[in-house]
Amino acid sequence: MTDAWNMTQDLIALRHALHRQPEISGAEADTARLIADRLRATAPDDLITGLGGHGVAAVYDSGTPGPSVLFRAELDALPISETSGVVHASERPGMAHLCGHDGHMAILMGLAGTRPKCGRMMLLFQPAEETGTGARAVLADPAFAPLRPDYAFALHNMPGMALGSVAVAPGPASCASVGWRLTIAGREAHAAFPETGLSPAPFLARLTDHLATLPKGAEGAMATLCHLNMGAATFGIAPGQAVAHVTLRAISDSGLTALERALRDWVAAQSEGLRIDITRHDHFNATLNDVDAVAHTTAARAALGLAEGDFTFPMRPSEDFGAFSAYAKCALFFLGAGEAQPALHDPAYDFPDALIAPGVALFRTILARVTA
Ligand SMILES: [Zn+2]
Ligand SMILES: [Zn+2]
Repeated sequence: MTDAWNMTQDLIALRHALHRQPEISGAEADTARLIADRLRATAPDDLITGLGGHGVAAVYDSGTPGPSVLFRAELDALPISETSGVVHASERPGMAHLCGHDGHMAILMGLAGTRPKCGRMMLLFQPAEETGTGARAVLADPAFAPLRPDYAFALHNMPGMALGSVAVAPGPASCASVGWRLTIAGREAHAAFPETGLSPAPFLARLTDHLATLPKGAEGAMATLCHLNMGAATFGIAPGQAVAHVTLRAISDSGLTALERALRDWVAAQSEGLRIDITRHDHFNATLNDVDAVAHTTAARAALGLAEGDFTFPMRPSEDFGAFSAYAKCALFFLGAGEAQPALHDPAYDFPDALIAPGVALFRTILARVTA
């Protein structure tokens, strides 16, 4: 057995251990401890814990000047019950690694202990990706300031794309998005005299129609009505209160800002006496891939003989890695998880172990190129 084979088996075992004990966004204490213990054993030059919550970063310095290169994985799982039936299935009810962050962590751990030829390598295990808050919290943490990288790379496994194929492109890689909670207040009335009250229903009907007129594609802006709750569950009261959740999405941060401004104006013009408060939640920046960082990734893919993945950029869902775009030359790329693989966040999803070895090889080759 080769060392590489042994290392991969060890990383697969690590992934299964992480998969059995998932923790949701912001509550990744056990996962962070396990990761920090493993990293400590590889004698990093610096090990920082508690970054932006439960984030962990390990620094491996060459001791000679050169670029500083960050690789990032995510610590969090999802509040969904797993149905995969695999032997290493979640042992924590109502939580599971259904986005493959367990696999991303195992891949990153495959680089632990590596020192580049020049500059330094940082492995960042960031918290709370799924809620869009983790990357920004890490960047805002004063302990991260001395670690600001020149380059930042992340991969996400991608069901529907051929197993082990790689997709990367310069420009927008994942969409910007934000959740709006609209709290709507009118006035209740007897159901026999609805005209004497002020019901949110006509506004909500207009809102639903209006949102449906926005294009359903990553090429423009889009909005999805995710939740609606109006009035009490009776037959005698015409409603006076409602809450609506709408997710807004655009391919760029400026596009999202424009969409929000336009929708705010529309809401104000359509309120007709209702009091409508809007609060913002789960805001994700768009990820903008840098030309140089993408060129290194493409060259690494070619050098390893991995196929080019069939993927339309940008990815419609958001990735909070986008927050790094403003601080470093970024590349977020996608690693095919197989055409038959259940979708991300599907209760039956499980990260393919076959991606661990190519994932480690890609990051290693990228590091060697950037620090050549
Ligand atoms: Zn996810
Ligand atoms: Zn994910």
